[in-house]
Amino acid sequence: MKKEIILFIGGAYMRMKGIDFKELLKQKGCKLTTQRRAVLDILNEHSGEHLSTEEIYEYVRKTCPEIGLATVYRTVQLFEEIKIVDKLNFDDGCSRYELISNEEDHHHHHLICENCGKVIEVEEDLLDGLEEQIEKNYIFKITNHKVKFYGICSRCMKPSE
Ligand SMILES: [Zn+2]
Ligand SMILES: [Zn+2]
Ligand SMILES: [Zn+2]
Repeated sequence: MKKEIILFIGGAYMRMKGIDFKELLKQKGCKLTTQRRAVLDILNEHSGEHLSTEEIYEYVRKTCPEIGLATVYRTVQLFEEIKIVDKLNFDDGCSRYELISNEEDHHHHHLICENCGKVIEVEEDLLDGLEEQIEKNYIFKITNHKVKFYGICSRCMKPSE
């Protein structure tokens, strides 16, 4: 089933761009304020970058100079509570956030370079076989997972000139 979704990744991204946040927040019982909208726009524009609260704040204040760090912090927490963003921990001393794609039924994986700290997205689930085995052997229904792989990225593997 996941394989069908992968084919639509290009299209899913386009749909993410045009996502109706107002409708989405209304469904979750929240109002779309200018500040919430601004934070959502930044997360959407920087998808794949896994921004920290401070980084979101730095971007948001350019379009929304009256916003404070505390508001950004609360907004991101709200988004996490209503499950439109995912909180990530890449062991770099801060929490990082990304919008949850409505095309994803399971969380995508992250590759973390231990040399330069770069984080690479793995769009494919690739765990179907493992999930099936765990579900069978442990009588456990898997609903999601967060997988981090540590290693060396292709740029860091190249010998330096
Ligand atoms: Zn999965
Ligand atoms: Zn690297
Ligand atoms: Zn990610």
